Amino acid sequence: ARRQRQMCIRDSRKADIMEYTKLANGMQMPMLGYGVFQIDDETTERCVSDALAAGYRLIDTAQAYMNERGVGAAIAKSGVARDELFVVSKIWVSNYRYEDAKRSIDESLERLGLEYLDLMLLHQCYYDVYGAWRALEEAYAAGKVRAIGVSNFDPVRLLDLCTFAKVAPALNQVETHVFWQQKPAHANMVKLGVQHMAWGPFAEGANDFFHNPLLTELGAAHGKGVGQVALRYLIDSGVVVIPKSTKPERMAENIDVFDFELTPADHAAIDALDTNASVCYDHTDLTVVGGLLGFIKSSM
Ligand code: NAP
Repeated sequence: ARRQRQMCIRDSRKADIMEYTKLANGMQMPMLGYGVFQIDDETTERCVSDALAAGYRLIDTAQAYMNERGVGAAIAKSGVARDELFVVSKIWVSNYRYEDAKRSIDESLERLGLEYLDLMLLHQCYYDVYGAWRALEEAYAAGKVRAIGVSNFDPVRLLDLCTFAKVAPALNQVETHVFWQQKPAHANMVKLGVQHMAWGPFAEGANDFFHNPLLTELGAAHGKGVGQVALRYLIDSGVVVIPKSTKPERMAENIDVFDFELTPADHAAIDALDTNASVCYDHTDLTVVGGLLGFIKSSM
């Protein structure tokens, strides 16, 4: 099924190869992009410039990252045609009331210097999700965003929104990596026609990810690195990935995953690394989530 939905396209202007998926509304989306979490605005401009030069065309930012201006500045200077890019941002929870969400979409576009976003997500599943979703549906109808989706929605919250929304979310971005493969959540997304996108595809380095013995062994067998094996595994599983690195040589390494194949035995071995639990930010942990929501409320 994955092979049917994903296309492998060679860009004749570059040596790079990219695979694509199709969202429920027919939009084509790269299977691999570049994320800019925890990079300040100024450094973001340099990083996104480097990423675009390395061949990345999907860029993932968010209002909460406070670096949409840096992303926009890099895009403006890059000379890359707008229709070659796939720009993603996310509405932060403090903007979730309908009017606030509506205004914040225009503010994101202004900071990015863009006339439209390719994809805008609700960053979290809390507070006035339906008010914010209505604002996104309207922005979608107005052509300000070409697709709309969510992030950090567990299967029940996703089913709820898919059931009652006028426009169903096209995508759900959740923590996904070899240690938390999100198989049940993925099956739910496939059933609902929602594209699965991974955040933290390297588990943000947790569990000594970059020295994992199995991934190291498989990498050696394929002439690849640990991160490349993990990204290939996720892409093979139908999951869009957005690895982050501030270093140009790692950016180049992380996008170089389209010239090798993992075997079914490789897949089975990596399947066994799944601990079925978060290693980054657990959205089901009441203490963790309570702290975040308290912080957001006090900042509103
Ligand atoms: P990640 O991509 O799993 O890991 C990033 C870490 O890996 C950085 O410390 C980076 O260090 C290191 N790294 C990258 N490539 C490497 C390589 N080839 N070899 C060794 N180390 C390498 O974590 P992430 O940034 O949290 O996740 C990726 C993106 O997902 C984010 O940037 C953001 O766009 C998105 N995200 C979304 C949410 C959400 O709630 N929706 C949450 C978190 C992240 P260097 O920079 O030093 O290379």
